[in-house]
Amino acid sequence: MALFEIFDPKAAPRPIGIDLGTTNSLVAYVKDGRPEVIADCNADRLLPSVVFYDEHGGAVVGRAAQARAAESPRETIVSVKRCMGKGGDDPETRRLGPYAFAPPAEGEANVVRFDVRGRRLTPVEVSADILRALKQLAEDELRSVGPAVITVPAYFDDAQRQATKDAGRLAGLDVLRLLNEPTAAALAYGLDKKKDGTFCVYDLGGGTFDVTVLLLEDGVFQVKSTGGDSALGGDDMDRAVAEEIFRVADLPPERRTPAIIRAVLDTSRALKHQLTEREAASAPSPLGVGPAELTLARSRFDELIAPILERTGVACRRAMKDAGLRGEALDGVILVGGATRVPAVRAYVKKLFGKEPLADIDPDAVVAMGAALQAHLLAGEGHKDEVLLLDVLPLSLGIEVGGGVVDKILPRNTTIPTGARATYTTQEDNQTGFQIHVVQGERELVADCRSLARFTLKGIPPMAAGMARLEVRFDVDADGILSVTAKETTTGLEQHVEVVPSYGLDDDAIEAMLLDALDHGEEDLEKRRLAEGQVEAHRMVLATRKGLAADAELLAPGERELIAAAVAALEEAAAGASAAAIQSRISDLDHATRAFAERRMNAAIAKATLGQRLDAVEKTVEHAKGIDLAHAEGTRAVG
Ligand code: ADP
Ligand code: MG
Repeated sequence: MALFEIFDPKAAPRPIGIDLGTTNSLVAYVKDGRPEVIADCNADRLLPSVVFYDEHGGAVVGRAAQARAAESPRETIVSVKRCMGKGGDDPETRRLGPYAFAPPAEGEANVVRFDVRGRRLTPVEVSADILRALKQLAEDELRSVGPAVITVPAYFDDAQRQATKDAGRLAGLDVLRLLNEPTAAALAYGLDKKKDGTFCVYDLGGGTFDVTVLLLEDGVFQVKSTGGDSALGGDDMDRAVAEEIFRVADLPPERRTPAIIRAVLDTSRALKHQLTEREAASAPSPLGVGPAELTLARSRFDELIAPILERTGVACRRAMKDAGLRGEALDGVILVGGATRVPAVRAYVKKLFGKEPLADIDPDAVVAMGAALQAHLLAGEGHKDEVLLLDVLPLSLGIEVGGGVVDKILPRNTTIPTGARATYTTQEDNQTGFQIHVVQGERELVADCRSLARFTLKGIPPMAAGMARLEVRFDVDADGILSVTAKETTTGLEQHVEVVPSYGLDDDAIEAMLLDALDHGEEDLEKRRLAEGQVEAHRMVLATRKGLAADAELLAPGERELIAAAVAALEEAAAGASAAAIQSRISDLDHATRAFAERRMNAAIAKATLGQRLDAVEKTVEHAKGIDLAHAEGTRAVG
């Protein structure tokens, strides 16, 4: 009898999408063109991101591990994502739970190490155990697993992304790409609905909050801005409820053992979940003292979580501002993350944006579904040009101008690839070189930003101050590589450098830089005005002196004294600390020299036109105007 090999289409390796969450992880794939989340044998689609290490060195992942947490808190690792790519001494890890941490050995990298039964486990290894469990789940369903797309919070920095990739590799996955979670969610929505418009993705998970403003045009997504808080989520609601339970029970701190804390947190989460469906919730008390049953009303719960919602609001407003939008300009708000099931969250989001949020795709699963779609596309199983994902600059890029001030050429959250140009001029006569200093950051002064590169454009022929025209071009390619070109346009001299903007800043550093800029906004602006005023004053004094020396014969009687007095007043103001005073003296000097400047201009034109044809005269006039125009358009002096 002949044996026939039956071709099982399921056996061909299938690309998968993984949402590696702080609280829950999911794996999905594309089945008949639609993303589908893979459930385990209990029809459970969420794999809790919890790993229990047993005494034989085995790892148990998911609900079974969760069940061991209360009795073996030190051997059961939860929320490991919070310490991916973090230093061993990072305070964030201390918030995680009652773990023992091992210090790095001599010569070892300074990463978090859990001390579990004498094993020293890094977050990468713990995450790899979660990914292995997901891979197994996918293999059970699909037989053979192909390349994977794994999602990460938008705020993840280089180290955190690298750690996630390492975990994937350690789990035996072929990691095609990492994808930002909010973008994955939007992908799931965009491909399902093919809608145009501007959307805001509000992702409140267990441990992270991400907000993203996206522009959707003919099925193409553009990230307009991103923001969030990498330490904010449904876990914080559980903590708020747990604190309330301890407060009401008046449990002395010495009785708050790790096991009790863990049990109270579990009870808090159960109460929270009940309140999503009901007005009041109850659960058996794990305290061992007081009433046998704990109850919580939804109204009290809403009060407890109000500060958490306010924090998400701050991040949303900032992201909207960065995208240059007001609430009304949004076509929709997409809810992502299990915590957005809470009715108070939906009500808050609705009030914040003034419209009903979209929630027709399961907020727990939408990220994994988007990741599956992306994996499907990247593996060449869809139409490649169906979706084009763009990225944004995390921090503004600019150059140093006179007075140590930053001139921002590309503002933060600009979509990449991108380019921009700015024109500058010289401050001093006969300046033969430009120092170009490229900086990154939100603050107004160079000293408060990060220096990325310095280079010099040399060999400019001696010219009068303000005559040289320096054109600076910034180009950022799709990989985030910045190239800077500086060109002196009257001579054609050009210089080019490539800079890699630092994405190695961790999210706290970026956050700190942003907060710093907000805190110092007013103060910075005043400093900036002062510095700019001083530069402008210096330029005007030099130009006036030069004019007086060159065309003394054009002065009217008494005019020289008047101008000299205005110059002296301006110099005095420039030595002071008031930007307003400098501006007012600048306009005084401008006023005092206006008639004289007009006479000089006329004389120059007359001299140039002596014996010339009319079209040449027009050119000369145009040239004189051109300089003025360039100045009005913001030609600035480079120090
Ligand atoms: P992450 O992306 O951080 O892994 P998820 O998106 O899975 O997180 O969200 C997990 C959070 O959602 C947890 O805090 C969980 O308690 C909460 N959550 C899940 N279901 C509900 C529900 N029905 N009501 C309220 N909160 C829920
Ligand atoms: Mg999530």
